[in-house]
Amino acid sequence: MISDFTNSYLRLPEAFFERVTPTPLPAPELVAFNPAALGLLDLPLEVVEAPAFVEAFAGNRPLPGAEPVAMCYAGHQFGHYVPRLGDGRAILLGEATNRRGDRWEVQLKGAGRTPFSRDGDGRAVLRSTIREYLCSEAMHGLGIPTTRAMCIVGGREEVYREQIETAAVLTRLAPTHVRFGTFEYFYHAGDYRALWELANWLLAHHFQQVAGYRNPYHELLREIVVSTARLIARWQLVGFAHGVMNTDNLSVLGLTLDYGPFGFLDRYQPDFICNHSDYQGRYAFDQQPRIALWNLSCLAQAMLPLLHPEDGEAAAALANEALAEFESAFMATYVRGAREKLGLMREDRGDPRLFAGLLRLLAEQQVDYTRFFRALGRFSSRDEAPERSEAAAEFADPAAFAVWAASYRERLRAENSDDALRRRAMDQVNPKYILRNYLAEQAIESARGGDFREIERLRALLARPFDEQPEREDYAARPPAWAGRIEVSCSS
Ligand code: AMP
Ligand code: MG
Repeated sequence: MISDFTNSYLRLPEAFFERVTPTPLPAPELVAFNPAALGLLDLPLEVVEAPAFVEAFAGNRPLPGAEPVAMCYAGHQFGHYVPRLGDGRAILLGEATNRRGDRWEVQLKGAGRTPFSRDGDGRAVLRSTIREYLCSEAMHGLGIPTTRAMCIVGGREEVYREQIETAAVLTRLAPTHVRFGTFEYFYHAGDYRALWELANWLLAHHFQQVAGYRNPYHELLREIVVSTARLIARWQLVGFAHGVMNTDNLSVLGLTLDYGPFGFLDRYQPDFICNHSDYQGRYAFDQQPRIALWNLSCLAQAMLPLLHPEDGEAAAALANEALAEFESAFMATYVRGAREKLGLMREDRGDPRLFAGLLRLLAEQQVDYTRFFRALGRFSSRDEAPERSEAAAEFADPAAFAVWAASYRERLRAENSDDALRRRAMDQVNPKYILRNYLAEQAIESARGGDFREIERLRALLARPFDEQPEREDYAARPPAWAGRIEVSCSS
């Protein structure tokens, strides 16, 4: 099935992981499989029909060459340091290399208890595996870096959360699942040897582009700062709230990692909190850039011994130099992205203000973020009355759009914007389809009843979020009233 496992992570010292055996899932059944992710492992589509496939990705039968481990890490959870977390319910089977030479860590999420499970049962519920499966593929479709989801296997095992649910196992792929918290674990334990080993492993396998630098550890930190800044800028532009930006949930590769109570904005609401356990709003939508930088400073601290082993002040200066790149990297991506969302080809110093003014208006008027930008692509720079535009129709009071629309039209005319060209360009960056919570909820409801077709329908839809898909027009509609009442918590 997977024929070429290399397990380089296992050559790191013992402290990095615990060897584990997945716990069998009773009556395993294939809930979903993703052709695109199968392709990453060179697996043909037919492979899913073999009973051995379901057994393997339920965790019921070992794959040849796999050496299952739970990875060790720490993390700051809601600002508080927890010295030992680790994979409490994720199991790394090994690293598979495809024909192109790309290496993918293959992880089972929800395959049973590990030495890091503490009081947890090591399981994931069907609901949360469907959410992660759909969202990681939706993010990929949007062009946003993310871990990938290959399949879901459901089973006949009861799991206790706020209510009784059933267990499922998600197979997840990433070049590596190493987190900020992996560095923190060894730094705070005072195990600097392991810290070097970790950094050197990353440089050898995932950051070869900087491995030859005079101070590769400084470059490594800079790379992580910049990729994280760009990732968060992409989240802000598309209206994605992660919900649990603890340092153990931030990838050193700048991937969206660990989907829990995430949410896409429906109406534009800067202080949107998608996680109902986040009482203080620490991880509110508009806090994400600030929190990312805070998390990066935890990472930078954990890397101090690497940056300059003898001179603490020099190390701190290098850390600060790397962290200082966050803002420029974030702003570069954000401002460029904002201009693209508005369909502006030329740069003008007033553009950030034009965009900020629009966001304020959308917030005040409670306008649907995704639908508005899609509609803005159809805005005419000519004579049509702005209040009769598709974009204005997204406002309860179309007249509220008029003032901003006038300055936007002026800006478009200043660069002789071609309406047809602009529309095409805007449709490439303003998605028509996002994974709204209520859409995920509908797929979950059907799946609970044993009908998995809606999961596949959504996956296929969201793989092409920028394309018009006329037969799926209703998936781009304004969310129904009940959508606002969905509660998503950390328990998954
Ligand atoms: P999360 O907030 O989902 O990223 O999880 C934080 C920590 O709790 C990680 O160390 C997880 O492995 C662990 N964890 C979450 N859910 C469970 C569970 N059901 N059983 C065991 N460990 C869990
Ligand atoms: Mg996590």
